[in-house]
Amino acid sequence: MSNPSLDSGKVWLVGAGPGDPDLLTLRAARLIMRAKLIVHDGLVDPAILALAQPGARLISVAKRRSRHTMPQEEINALLVHEALAGTEVVRLKGGDPFIFGRGGEEAEACHAAGVEVEVAPGISAAIGAAAAAQMPLTHRRSASIVSFVAGQCKGLSEQNWAGLAGQGRTLVIYMGLATAEAIADKLIEDGLAPDMPVAVVENATRPQMRVLRGPLAGLPDLVLREKVKSPAIIVIGEVTAEPEIEQLRALALEAAE
Ligand code: SAH
Repeated sequence: MSNPSLDSGKVWLVGAGPGDPDLLTLRAARLIMRAKLIVHDGLVDPAILALAQPGARLISVAKRRSRHTMPQEEINALLVHEALAGTEVVRLKGGDPFIFGRGGEEAEACHAAGVEVEVAPGISAAIGAAAAAQMPLTHRRSASIVSFVAGQCKGLSEQNWAGLAGQGRTLVIYMGLATAEAIADKLIEDGLAPDMPVAVVENATRPQMRVLRGPLAGLPDLVLREKVKSPAIIVIGEVTAEPEIEQLRALALEAAE
């Protein structure tokens, strides 16, 4: 494990995991505990920020859709400015910094300004949700391909969704609540079975986590009826079906005997 150096300014892009502080890496926890400056986004759990030392400066650049407090260019400029002034900046992001976290853009901005960057990976929401809901994203019986897709992405209708879901495949959609209906329609239009099992995991790994299941055709209704709120992840594929879980439990019992 590389030993983070304290002498010069640099930017650490740090993954905070999906919520539960227990899911921080040791590296992330060490960096947070010794940081003088933490620049964090809205998805980072307060319990994780509570690990910071009392004198640490915490700057929130909340990035949830509805309360966008700082444009990306300003975040980039802030990171660069602080690092050039000699500060070791901990840029703390939900999940993993390089999965839909704009970590790539921040790293580019730092490189362009000659600022050193290091990355501490985090458990991405898909991985956390799969574990917490006991939903293997791959399974020898039912899935050997997994795709992570951003649901709010532009050009939704031009994507080849049919290739991402269906037999042998698991499709995980981040930020897909607002477009759940369009996604379900498109997948069915592209030939996916309307009764393909789907799970929605809201607040994965947090105490208030909910796991909702149903058929693909019922996804938009499920989201509305259950008033699913962000953050939530949508998983589409055989691995989300209840029988799968039952089989896992049976296997676990067998193994324990
Ligand atoms: N970098 C993050 C993703 C940022 S995009 C990661 O690797 O997880 C934000 C989206 O991530 C949310 O809209 C939601 O789809 C998903 N997400 C993040 N935390 C989550 C959680 N605890 N439960 C469910 N989904 C979550």
